[in-house]
Amino acid sequence: MIPEISAALTSVSTLGKIASALHGVAKQTEINQHVISLQSSIIDLQGKIFAIQSEYENLAGIKDETEKKLMKYEDWDRQKERYRFTNVADGISVYVYEPTEGDRTPSHWVCPYCFENHKKSVLNRPAPDCINYICHECKWEVVVGKRAYFA
Ligand SMILES: [Zn+2]
Repeated sequence: MIPEISAALTSVSTLGKIASALHGVAKQTEINQHVISLQSSIIDLQGKIFAIQSEYENLAGIKDETEKKLMKYEDWDRQKERYRFTNVADGISVYVYEPTEGDRTPSHWVCPYCFENHKKSVLNRPAPDCINYICHECKWEVVVGKRAYFA
């Protein structure tokens, strides 16, 4: 059990005991002592309830962040299924996008280093007649020796 909740329940129990003690007390001085004790316990309980509320808000924030991270990972898992790690030249492997039927996204290569960090960074040639490809995210550059074909 969360310690703050346990402490609050203990305070509630104390309030019950004080209220029970009030029953049957005839002298005003004893009643006043119990009322003061009751007020003190109520203030203590309020503090514990505020601590519980604060802890709840903290945990709710952690839960929201965790759900966002989970959604991001699930989205990445869906996206990475569209890529195949392919050897495009001797000793050179990249992730190749595999469009499905009706998919308008053109086939392209993605940087293997960025891909491993859950980033899709398309490898582009600096100009149409160039034979090198550059990752603009991590600056990895690869020369395939001839114009590469897309699988
Ligand atoms: Zn990269």
